[in-house]
Amino acid sequence: MFQDLAGKVAVVTGASQGIGRGIAVRFGQEKMKVVVNYARSEEQALQTVEEIKAAGGDAIAVKADVAKEDEVINLIQTAIETFGSLDILVNNAGIQTTVPSHELSVDDWHKVMDTNLTGAFVGCREAIKYMLAHNIKGNILNISSVHQKIPKPFHAHYASSKGGLRLLTETLALEYAPYGIRVNTIAPGAIATQMNEHILSDPNQNKDVLSLIPMNKIGETKHIASAAAWLASDEAAYVTGVTLFVDGGMTLYPFYLKG
Ligand code: NAP
Repeated sequence: MFQDLAGKVAVVTGASQGIGRGIAVRFGQEKMKVVVNYARSEEQALQTVEEIKAAGGDAIAVKADVAKEDEVINLIQTAIETFGSLDILVNNAGIQTTVPSHELSVDDWHKVMDTNLTGAFVGCREAIKYMLAHNIKGNILNISSVHQKIPKPFHAHYASSKGGLRLLTETLALEYAPYGIRVNTIAPGAIATQMNEHILSDPNQNKDVLSLIPMNKIGETKHIASAAAWLASDEAAYVTGVTLFVDGGMTLYPFYLKG
């Protein structure tokens, strides 16, 4: 637990399930006020809200497609109007599809980029605008992926969006460090969620994934959530512009374990 987080106001995008839900519920355990964003899954978002309240935090669910600028603006505004402030923004919402790059349409490219990168940019912009105006030493977490570093064939749009997120994080971290606003990235490895359920539930594919993870186990949402709580807290007060890989060693070139 990080005592300074109690009472802080956070927006977590894509918090109806998976990693976003894990972070939102952890924030609830920290007694924070959480805006649970979702695009389609209202019922699941309301479940996240209930879990946060049961853990001792406060929460509301707000529908917003992060790929739409006006909806992100409304999301941030609703958080401020409801809870009276904004201290932490977690840009977590993300999608991916699997397509050979030479067949990838510009429409599909935009869909992924608009959600994973442009949505995060608009969220950052709106949050920082508010934090500057109210002298809030806030902080922003962008959830990227090991694929901000490891190339991902058949996912050119996804890998490009995550690489962009890294440099967006570093640029904003530098630009707003003088104002005490911290911006960091968490890069998850293979975490058990809906996004990769089709891979992890197939024994052969699961084995292939495990062979890429030196710790030989799939990550859980709680692993990302604890990294998020630490980075959001004052315990990380001197940390900005970093990528924290939470990946069981996946980015450490596991091939070389073979000697
Ligand atoms: P997930 O289980 O598929 O959940 C995705 C979440 O994003 C859902 O809550 C979904 O809400 C929301 N979302 C999707 N499109 C949205 C939009 N346009 N606007 C608002 N919300 C939207 O995915 P996950 O595995 O938790 O992934 C979360 C993040 O971690 C993503 O950025 C992903 O790239 C990253 N990541 C995941 C892994 C992994 O192994 N799972 C690894 C590396 C990085 P609705 O259901 O309401 O649409």
